[in-house]
Amino acid sequence: MEYRLLDGKATAARLRAEIAAEVEQIVKNGGRRPALTAILVGNDPASQTYVANKDKSCKEVGFAGDVLRLPETTTQEELIKIVNDINANSSIDGLIVQLPLPKHINPQAVIAAISPDKDVDGFHPQSAGKMMLGEETFLPATPMGIMTLLKEYKINTAGMNCVVLGRSNIVGRPMANLLSQKGIPGDCTVTMCHSRTKDLAKYTREADIIVAALGIPNFVSADMVKEGAIIVDVGINSVEDKSRKSGYRLVGDVDFDAVAPKCSYITPVPGGVGPMTIVSLMQNTLKAYKAKAL
Ligand code: NAD
Repeated sequence: MEYRLLDGKATAARLRAEIAAEVEQIVKNGGRRPALTAILVGNDPASQTYVANKDKSCKEVGFAGDVLRLPETTTQEELIKIVNDINANSSIDGLIVQLPLPKHINPQAVIAAISPDKDVDGFHPQSAGKMMLGEETFLPATPMGIMTLLKEYKINTAGMNCVVLGRSNIVGRPMANLLSQKGIPGDCTVTMCHSRTKDLAKYTREADIIVAALGIPNFVSADMVKEGAIIVDVGINSVEDKSRKSGYRLVGDVDFDAVAPKCSYITPVPGGVGPMTIVSLMQNTLKAYKAKAL
Protein backbone atom coordinates (compact mmCIF):
# COMPACT_ATOMS: atom_id res chain seq x y z
CA MET A 1 0.00 0.00 0.00
CA GLU A 2 1.14 3.53 -0.77
CA TYR A 3 1.50 5.20 2.63
CA ARG A 4 1.69 8.88 3.50
CA LEU A 5 3.93 10.25 6.21
CA LEU A 6 2.30 12.28 8.94
CA ASP A 7 5.12 14.79 8.83
CA GLY A 8 5.36 16.30 12.29
CA LYS A 9 8.57 18.12 11.50
CA ALA A 10 7.12 20.08 8.58
CA THR A 11 3.78 20.67 10.31
CA ALA A 12 5.48 21.90 13.49
CA ALA A 13 7.74 24.19 11.46
CA ARG A 14 4.67 25.79 9.87
CA LEU A 15 2.96 26.24 13.23
CA ARG A 16 6.16 27.66 14.77
CA ALA A 17 6.32 30.23 11.99
CA GLU A 18 2.76 31.28 12.84
CA ILE A 19 3.67 31.66 16.53
CA ALA A 20 6.83 33.60 15.67
CA ALA A 21 4.82 36.00 13.46
CA GLU A 22 2.33 36.58 16.28
CA VAL A 23 5.08 37.21 18.82
CA GLU A 24 6.77 39.64 16.46
CA GLN A 25 3.50 41.54 16.12
CA ILE A 26 3.05 41.65 19.91
CA VAL A 27 6.55 43.04 20.40
CA LYS A 28 6.08 45.54 17.55
CA ASN A 29 2.99 46.81 19.34
CA GLY A 30 5.01 47.36 22.51
CA GLY A 31 3.95 44.18 24.32
CA ARG A 32 6.28 41.99 26.34
CA ARG A 33 7.38 38.63 25.06
CA PRO A 34 5.54 35.49 26.25
CA ALA A 35 7.75 33.67 28.73
CA LEU A 36 8.12 30.00 29.62
CA THR A 37 10.19 28.72 32.53
CA ALA A 38 11.26 25.10 32.68
CA ILE A 39 12.51 23.52 35.89
CA LEU A 40 14.93 20.64 35.62
CA VAL A 41 15.95 18.79 38.77
CA GLY A 42 18.99 16.52 38.62
CA ASN A 43 21.13 15.22 35.76
CA ASP A 44 18.96 12.77 33.79
CA PRO A 45 20.54 12.90 30.29
CA ALA A 46 17.28 12.42 28.35
CA SER A 47 15.56 15.14 30.42
CA GLN A 48 18.47 17.49 29.80
CA THR A 49 18.11 16.98 26.05
CA TYR A 50 14.32 17.47 26.13
CA VAL A 51 14.56 20.66 28.16
CA ALA A 52 17.35 22.07 26.01
CA ASN A 53 15.27 21.38 22.87
CA LYS A 54 12.20 23.05 24.36
CA ASP A 55 14.24 26.08 25.42
CA LYS A 56 15.86 26.39 22.00
CA SER A 57 12.50 26.20 20.20
CA CYS A 58 11.03 28.81 22.54
CA LYS A 59 13.87 31.20 21.83
CA GLU A 60 13.44 30.60 18.08
CA VAL A 61 9.85 31.85 18.12
CA GLY A 62 10.83 34.88 20.20
CA PHE A 63 9.67 33.76 23.64
CA ALA A 64 11.52 34.90 26.73
CA GLY A 65 12.12 32.59 29.66
CA ASP A 66 14.75 30.25 30.90
CA VAL A 67 15.65 26.88 32.34
CA LEU A 68 16.15 26.59 36.09
CA ARG A 69 18.63 23.76 36.64
CA LEU A 70 18.41 22.51 40.21
CA PRO A 71 20.65 19.94 41.91
CA GLU A 72 19.52 16.33 42.40
CA THR A 73 19.52 16.99 46.16
CA THR A 74 16.77 19.64 45.94
CA THR A 75 14.03 18.79 48.45
CA GLN A 76 10.34 18.69 47.62
CA GLU A 77 9.80 21.64 49.93
CA GLU A 78 12.46 23.71 48.17
CA LEU A 79 11.06 22.83 44.78
CA ILE A 80 7.50 23.77 45.75
CA LYS A 81 8.79 27.07 47.15
CA ILE A 82 10.39 27.83 43.75
CA VAL A 83 7.16 26.85 41.97
CA ASN A 84 5.23 29.24 44.25
CA ASP A 85 7.68 32.07 43.48
CA ILE A 86 7.18 31.52 39.74
CA ASN A 87 3.39 31.35 40.23
CA ALA A 88 3.61 34.83 41.77
CA ASN A 89 5.87 36.25 39.04
CA SER A 90 3.59 38.05 36.58
CA SER A 91 6.23 38.19 33.84
CA ILE A 92 6.26 34.38 33.50
CA ASP A 93 3.31 32.91 31.59
CA GLY A 94 4.05 29.20 31.55
CA LEU A 95 5.82 26.83 33.93
CA ILE A 96 6.83 23.25 33.30
CA VAL A 97 8.59 20.87 35.65
CA GLN A 98 10.43 18.25 33.65
CA LEU A 99 9.58 14.66 34.62
CA PRO A 100 10.79 12.30 35.95
CA LEU A 101 11.78 13.96 39.21
CA PRO A 102 14.29 12.39 41.62
CA LYS A 103 12.75 9.58 43.66
CA HIS A 104 12.52 11.57 46.92
CA ILE A 105 10.12 14.07 45.31
CA ASN A 106 6.43 13.28 44.78
CA PRO A 107 5.67 14.52 41.24
CA GLN A 108 1.93 14.89 41.90
CA ALA A 109 2.60 17.20 44.86
CA VAL A 110 4.79 19.43 42.69
CA ILE A 111 2.42 19.46 39.72
CA ALA A 112 -0.49 20.32 42.01
CA ALA A 113 1.49 23.34 43.25
CA ILE A 114 1.72 24.86 39.75
CA SER A 115 -0.83 27.59 39.17
CA PRO A 116 -3.44 26.19 36.74
CA ASP A 117 -3.10 29.47 34.77
CA LYS A 118 0.55 28.60 34.07
CA ASP A 119 0.11 24.84 33.67
CA VAL A 120 1.16 24.74 30.01
CA ASP A 121 2.01 21.02 30.27
CA GLY A 122 -1.64 20.38 31.18
CA PHE A 123 -0.67 17.97 33.98
CA HIS A 124 -2.38 19.80 36.89
CA PRO A 125 -5.44 17.94 38.26
CA GLN A 126 -7.61 20.92 37.30
CA SER A 127 -6.41 20.80 33.68
CA ALA A 128 -6.78 17.01 33.57
CA GLY A 129 -10.30 17.23 35.02
CA LYS A 130 -11.38 19.91 32.58
CA MET A 131 -9.94 17.94 29.66
CA MET A 132 -11.90 14.90 30.81
CA LEU A 133 -15.09 16.98 30.83
CA GLY A 134 -14.29 18.41 27.40
CA GLU A 135 -13.92 21.92 28.82
CA GLU A 136 -11.49 24.55 27.57
CA THR A 137 -8.10 24.06 29.25
CA PHE A 138 -4.42 23.40 28.61
CA LEU A 139 -4.08 19.98 26.98
CA PRO A 140 -0.99 17.85 27.61
CA ALA A 141 1.48 18.60 24.83
CA THR A 142 1.97 15.16 23.28
CA PRO A 143 -1.71 14.17 22.87
CA MET A 144 -2.47 17.75 21.82
CA GLY A 145 0.26 17.57 19.15
CA ILE A 146 -1.16 14.29 17.84
CA MET A 147 -4.67 15.77 17.64
CA THR A 148 -3.27 18.76 15.75
CA LEU A 149 -1.41 16.48 13.34
CA LEU A 150 -4.55 14.44 12.59
CA LYS A 151 -6.44 17.68 12.05
CA GLU A 152 -3.78 19.17 9.78
CA TYR A 153 -3.96 16.07 7.58
CA LYS A 154 -7.78 16.32 7.58
CA ILE A 155 -8.19 12.72 8.73
CA ASN A 156 -11.83 11.97 9.35
CA THR A 157 -11.59 9.88 12.50
CA ALA A 158 -15.34 9.64 13.15
CA GLY A 159 -16.36 6.09 14.01
CA MET A 160 -12.85 4.70 13.72
CA ASN A 161 -11.64 1.98 16.06
CA CYS A 162 -8.66 3.39 17.87
CA VAL A 163 -6.24 1.44 20.01
CA VAL A 164 -3.97 3.35 22.37
CA LEU A 165 -1.01 1.36 23.65
CA GLY A 166 0.05 2.69 27.05
CA ARG A 167 -1.88 4.26 29.93
CA SER A 168 0.48 6.91 31.29
CA ASN A 169 -0.97 10.15 32.61
CA ILE A 170 1.03 12.20 30.13
CA VAL A 171 0.37 10.30 26.90
CA GLY A 172 -1.83 7.17 26.78
CA ARG A 173 -4.66 8.12 29.12
CA PRO A 174 -5.25 11.68 27.84
CA MET A 175 -4.85 10.44 24.26
CA ALA A 176 -7.59 7.85 24.75
CA ASN A 177 -9.77 10.51 26.31
CA LEU A 178 -9.31 13.08 23.53
CA LEU A 179 -9.88 10.58 20.72
CA SER A 180 -13.14 9.48 22.32
CA GLN A 181 -14.48 13.03 22.65
CA LYS A 182 -17.03 14.54 20.29
CA GLY A 183 -15.64 16.26 17.20
CA ILE A 184 -12.99 15.71 14.56
CA PRO A 185 -10.40 14.53 15.33
CA GLY A 186 -12.25 12.41 17.85
CA ASP A 187 -15.52 10.49 17.74
CA CYS A 188 -13.47 7.28 17.87
CA THR A 189 -14.27 4.05 19.65
CA VAL A 190 -11.22 3.77 21.84
CA THR A 191 -9.56 0.78 23.47
CA MET A 192 -6.68 1.44 25.84
CA CYS A 193 -4.17 -1.40 26.13
CA HIS A 194 -1.39 -1.69 28.70
CA SER A 195 1.12 -4.04 30.23
CA ARG A 196 -1.61 -6.31 31.65
CA THR A 197 -3.66 -6.56 28.45
CA LYS A 198 -4.18 -10.14 27.30
CA ASP A 199 -3.70 -10.91 23.60
CA LEU A 200 -2.93 -7.31 22.69
CA ALA A 201 -2.58 -8.07 18.97
CA LYS A 202 -6.25 -9.09 18.88
CA TYR A 203 -7.10 -5.42 19.51
CA THR A 204 -4.46 -3.83 17.28
CA ARG A 205 -5.46 -5.98 14.30
CA GLU A 206 -8.96 -4.48 14.48
CA ALA A 207 -7.68 -0.91 14.80
CA ASP A 208 -8.15 1.83 12.22
CA ILE A 209 -5.78 3.99 14.29
CA ILE A 210 -3.00 2.77 16.59
CA VAL A 211 -1.27 5.19 18.93
CA ALA A 212 1.82 3.46 20.33
CA ALA A 213 3.16 4.95 23.58
CA LEU A 214 4.90 2.16 25.46
CA GLY A 215 8.59 2.95 25.30
CA ILE A 216 9.53 -0.45 23.79
CA PRO A 217 11.58 -0.27 20.58
CA ASN A 218 9.84 -1.72 17.49
CA PHE A 219 7.08 -3.29 19.63
CA VAL A 220 4.38 -2.98 16.94
CA SER A 221 5.14 -5.44 14.15
CA ALA A 222 3.53 -5.82 10.72
CA ASP A 223 1.39 -8.81 11.75
CA MET A 224 -0.25 -6.66 14.47
CA VAL A 225 -1.54 -4.09 11.97
CA LYS A 226 -4.39 -4.29 9.49
CA GLU A 227 -4.11 -2.99 5.91
CA GLY A 228 -4.76 0.73 5.65
CA ALA A 229 -4.36 1.53 9.35
CA ILE A 230 -3.18 4.91 10.60
CA ILE A 231 -0.15 4.63 12.87
CA VAL A 232 0.99 7.24 15.37
CA ASP A 233 4.30 6.33 16.96
CA VAL A 234 4.99 8.22 20.19
CA GLY A 235 7.97 6.15 21.34
CA ILE A 236 11.43 7.64 21.56
CA ASN A 237 13.90 4.85 22.24
CA SER A 238 17.63 5.02 21.98
CA VAL A 239 19.13 1.82 20.54
CA GLU A 240 22.76 0.94 19.97
CA ASP A 241 24.02 1.64 16.45
CA LYS A 242 27.74 1.24 15.93
CA SER A 243 27.50 2.69 12.40
CA ARG A 244 26.63 6.10 13.91
CA LYS A 245 29.21 8.46 15.31
CA SER A 246 27.13 8.82 18.48
CA GLY A 247 26.93 5.02 18.84
CA TYR A 248 23.13 5.07 18.99
CA ARG A 249 20.03 6.03 17.05
CA LEU A 250 16.44 6.84 17.94
CA VAL A 251 13.65 4.43 17.06
CA GLY A 252 9.96 4.43 17.85
CA ASP A 253 7.65 1.81 19.34
CA VAL A 254 6.69 0.72 15.82
CA ASP A 255 8.82 -1.33 13.43
CA PHE A 256 8.57 1.39 10.79
CA ASP A 257 10.12 -0.43 7.80
CA ALA A 258 7.87 -3.47 8.20
CA VAL A 259 4.69 -1.65 9.22
CA ALA A 260 4.71 1.39 6.89
CA PRO A 261 3.86 -0.55 3.67
CA LYS A 262 0.58 -1.71 5.30
CA CYS A 263 -0.49 1.76 6.43
CA SER A 264 -2.42 4.63 4.95
CA TYR A 265 -0.61 7.12 7.23
CA ILE A 266 2.29 6.77 9.65
CA THR A 267 4.44 9.11 11.76
CA PRO A 268 8.22 8.75 11.44
CA VAL A 269 10.60 8.70 14.42
CA PRO A 270 12.24 11.15 14.64
CA GLY A 271 10.25 13.88 12.91
CA GLY A 272 6.72 12.81 13.84
CA VAL A 273 5.20 13.28 17.28
CA GLY A 274 8.31 14.82 18.90
CA PRO A 275 8.25 18.18 17.08
CA MET A 276 4.44 18.34 17.48
CA THR A 277 4.86 17.97 21.26
CA ILE A 278 7.21 20.94 21.44
CA VAL A 279 5.09 23.18 19.24
CA SER A 280 2.01 22.33 21.33
CA LEU A 281 3.86 23.48 24.43
CA MET A 282 4.58 26.76 22.68
CA GLN A 283 0.94 27.12 21.60
CA ASN A 284 -0.08 26.59 25.23
CA THR A 285 2.42 29.21 26.42
CA LEU A 286 1.08 31.75 23.93
CA LYS A 287 -2.44 30.90 25.07
CA ALA A 288 -1.44 31.45 28.74
CA TYR A 289 0.09 34.80 27.79
CA LYS A 290 -2.98 35.93 25.88
CA ALA A 291 -5.35 34.85 28.65
CA LYS A 292 -3.44 37.14 30.99
CA ALA A 293 -3.16 39.99 28.51
CA LEU A 294 -6.93 40.11 27.92
P1 NAD B 1 5.40 5.20 30.59
O1 NAD B 1 6.58 4.33 30.86
O2 NAD B 1 4.91 6.12 31.63
O3 NAD B 1 4.18 4.29 30.15
C1 NAD B 1 4.35 3.19 29.31
C2 NAD B 1 3.03 2.48 29.20
O4 NAD B 1 3.21 1.36 28.36
C3 NAD B 1 2.48 1.97 30.52
O5 NAD B 1 1.17 2.46 30.69
C4 NAD B 1 2.46 0.45 30.39
O6 NAD B 1 1.28 -0.13 30.91
C5 NAD B 1 2.51 0.26 28.89
N1 NAD B 1 3.26 -0.95 28.57
C6 NAD B 1 4.50 -1.30 28.94
N2 NAD B 1 4.83 -2.50 28.46
C7 NAD B 1 3.77 -2.95 27.75
C8 NAD B 1 3.49 -4.12 27.01
N3 NAD B 1 4.39 -5.10 26.89
N4 NAD B 1 2.30 -4.21 26.41
C9 NAD B 1 1.38 -3.23 26.53
N5 NAD B 1 1.58 -2.08 27.21
C10 NAD B 1 2.77 -1.96 27.82
O7 NAD B 1 5.78 5.96 29.25
P2 NAD B 1 5.25 7.35 28.62
O8 NAD B 1 5.75 8.47 29.42
O9 NAD B 1 3.79 7.26 28.32
O10 NAD B 1 6.05 7.31 27.24
C11 NAD B 1 5.91 6.27 26.32
C12 NAD B 1 6.95 6.43 25.21
O11 NAD B 1 6.70 7.66 24.56
C13 NAD B 1 8.39 6.51 25.67
O12 NAD B 1 9.21 5.94 24.65
C14 NAD B 1 8.67 7.98 25.76
O13 NAD B 1 10.04 8.30 25.59
C15 NAD B 1 7.87 8.47 24.60
N6 NAD B 1 7.41 9.86 24.69
C16 NAD B 1 7.55 10.59 23.57
C17 NAD B 1 7.10 11.90 23.54
C18 NAD B 1 7.23 12.66 22.27
O14 NAD B 1 7.17 13.87 22.29
N7 NAD B 1 7.39 11.99 21.13
C19 NAD B 1 6.51 12.47 24.66
C20 NAD B 1 6.36 11.68 25.81
C21 NAD B 1 6.81 10.36 25.80
